[in-house]
Amino acid sequence: MDHHSAGEATAPAVSELDPPNRTLMGPGPSDVHPRVRRAMSTPLVGHLDPSFVDLMDEAQELLRYTFRTGNEWTIPVSGTGSAAMEAAIGNLVEPGETMLVPTNGYFGGRMAEMARRAGGDVVEVDAPWGEPLDPADVESALSTHDPDIFGFVHAETSTGVLQPNVPTLTEAAHDHGALVVADAVTSLGGVELRVDEWDIDVAYAGPQKCLSCPPGASPLTLSDEAMEKVLSREEAPRSWYLDLSLLEGYWGDERAYHHTAPITNVYALREALRLVAEEGIESRWRRHERLASALKAGVEGMGLEMNAPDAYWLPSLNAVRVPDGVDDGEICQTVLDDYDLEIAGGLGDLAGDIFRIGCMGHAASPANVVLTITALGDALA
Ligand code: PLP
Repeated sequence: MDHHSAGEATAPAVSELDPPNRTLMGPGPSDVHPRVRRAMSTPLVGHLDPSFVDLMDEAQELLRYTFRTGNEWTIPVSGTGSAAMEAAIGNLVEPGETMLVPTNGYFGGRMAEMARRAGGDVVEVDAPWGEPLDPADVESALSTHDPDIFGFVHAETSTGVLQPNVPTLTEAAHDHGALVVADAVTSLGGVELRVDEWDIDVAYAGPQKCLSCPPGASPLTLSDEAMEKVLSREEAPRSWYLDLSLLEGYWGDERAYHHTAPITNVYALREALRLVAEEGIESRWRRHERLASALKAGVEGMGLEMNAPDAYWLPSLNAVRVPDGVDDGEICQTVLDDYDLEIAGGLGDLAGDIFRIGCMGHAASPANVVLTITALGDALA
């Protein structure tokens, strides 16, 4: 029967959910820890329930620990990593201000687009995809353009590049009077990141990478100075939903309604962060490095080449060169079909050139590393 005709509607016959049991070693999301899954199946409470307000405090405290910051302004933003990213850029960039962004990967491009939509002027510091920013180029772009804000991607998921020399970059930006925004989506909880010690003004992340939590509530932290800039804007930010001066009412002392928080995602994030605290953040960084080193040794052992040299290799996202004559899409499909294992190909300038193999959070385990090497070796044989 036609859905629009009179009479009883025909309900779609959809079977009970039964997703495949994948091992997630791609660019994210990563395998969710069983404790996080359990936290997500606990009963819902109201978003202003006193018990939930306590959980919010705990989640914020755990986020500060994980970011290595004392920033009061540390919250999970409702939405995926891009929501935290847009909260950062959309609140910080005022119309007519200038933001300096990198060109060395996909997510620098997204920063530029968000800054433009916030009414900002975008200027660029160049580096090829697959390479980090050179501090000398950043210094020269800062001198030339005198930007209000400088954004960089700490861990470029599109290229497997870890930006080294972060304190040098932040110092240069501050000498030129610019605030620094770091994209820490693929670094938070996986590779060394020290927001306070490195003098980063604003950092945002995603829960679905090295925190091994489903997407939905995304970490964001702002220094007092950055928050002062946000709170003294002349014009309200263009997004009502992500307006930090309004979110302050909910996540600050007042605990007043702004929007209904994704309660289950906050449960999940809190549990994922409890796992970080139990392991110890530094041990967690070391575990990622150790397991990703084993993965790297395995792929090199089968004659493949890493795209990034050790100086800026990103343990949480391993970019491996696709051998000549091999179709990366076919290999990823074979690995998925035969091993229930997710890895990914390249994108943008590196499409067809690299495999992207994540080693993130709970998925950074000996069993997963062995499985990945076996599956990739088999698919390439
Ligand atoms: N920034 C980086 C470096 C990312 O890897 C991603 C997602 O992969 C994002 C931003 C955007 O996050 P999301 O896809 O959760 O919105």
